[in-house]
Amino acid sequence: MKFHIPVKVFDENDCVRKHSAEIASFGKKALIVTGKNSARVNGSLDDVIEALKNEAVEYQLFSDVEENPSVETVFAAANKYRSEDIDFVIGIGGGSPLDAAKAIALALKHPKADLSYLYDKEKDPSALPVICVPTTCGTGSEVTGVSVLTRHDKKTKISMVHKVFPDLALVDGKYLDSAPQSLIVNTSVDALAHLYESVLNAKVNDYVRMTAYAGLKCWAKTKDVLNGKRKRSTEDNALLMRSSLFAGMSIAQSGTSLPHALSYALTYDLKLPHGKVVGYFLPGFLAAAPAEQRDELLKLSGFEDQKEFDSFIFGLFDDINVQETELQRAGELVSANRAKMESASFYVDDKVLESILKYR
Ligand code: NAP
Ligand code: ZN
Repeated sequence: MKFHIPVKVFDENDCVRKHSAEIASFGKKALIVTGKNSARVNGSLDDVIEALKNEAVEYQLFSDVEENPSVETVFAAANKYRSEDIDFVIGIGGGSPLDAAKAIALALKHPKADLSYLYDKEKDPSALPVICVPTTCGTGSEVTGVSVLTRHDKKTKISMVHKVFPDLALVDGKYLDSAPQSLIVNTSVDALAHLYESVLNAKVNDYVRMTAYAGLKCWAKTKDVLNGKRKRSTEDNALLMRSSLFAGMSIAQSGTSLPHALSYALTYDLKLPHGKVVGYFLPGFLAAAPAEQRDELLKLSGFEDQKEFDSFIFGLFDDINVQETELQRAGELVSANRAKMESASFYVDDKVLESILKYR
């Protein structure tokens, strides 16, 4: 068994400003990578800039990362800042800027890297140091080595093959204060999917269960916030971030499974948020799992049974509209990929896959 999370995590209020010296230990010049807007609004960018200024660390800012970042964006950033002697990269935002930051750190380390480099297992996987400051509560990218990138040439998303773990994760629930309810819902369902898929996974072991069960317990405490039964508090924000982080630790060991595999083509086709599309397949995936495993996970996350879970998820995402042809394309891509078909803890053939696709 292996458990590998080479990331120092600070999970506390005001951790960015508190740990400015730790940030500065990575060098004299940083490249900050963000999405277009949110980092300016939720206070995370101000905190990072303040921390850098405190320590007299220079910085450049790349704030052009789109949702579901593309390989084109990664190279636009790397090419722009290649001659700037960047020592380390700070990703701020949801999974999109964090994933982009990892790939940019890799591309900056290897000046001749091109698209094929990101997908060639034989190449040197080392990257500049990466610091992640999450501002959504879903991907756990701050503790995984994964960078999921959009490949317009293939009309889907494909993770780069190299693992680039962040060196430092600075996790502060306050960045969720101003987030809209839809973002909290979409991203925390993504975290829930990571928790379920890491356990209902061919690679599950006791270490994965350790982090996933801890994450499920945090998640259960915030469940009523998602369907609007209760108002979100400061403590909820911290728990939402923490369950996402534990979920990230879990998938960093085992990977994800079928709901994620099925989501990628559909996310591309429908241009919908990642967590919403993953959530679409989650009830069917659980229903296909052995009853004992399913029931344990449902209990840990605060659900009585599959019926209650289904109505909870369908209630959150009652506006999603998927065409038969889109489902078919998603299914065909996964059915042709043996590793994906064998990723669950239980046997999946085309019939089981179809039951997941058509569950809703
Ligand atoms: P995201 O795509 O990073 O961001 C979604 C939207 O939320 C953007 O419009 C963003 O605005 C906004 N936003 C971010 N933080 C906000 C805040 N605190 N308040 C208000 N708005 C905020 O969302 P995500 O779901 O976190 O990330 C999805 C990506 O992560 C996908 O590409 C997915 O494939 C990937 N992923 C990676 C892993 C991994 O292990 N690495 C795991 C799962 C998923 P701005 O654009 O203005 O910032
Ligand atoms: Zn995900």
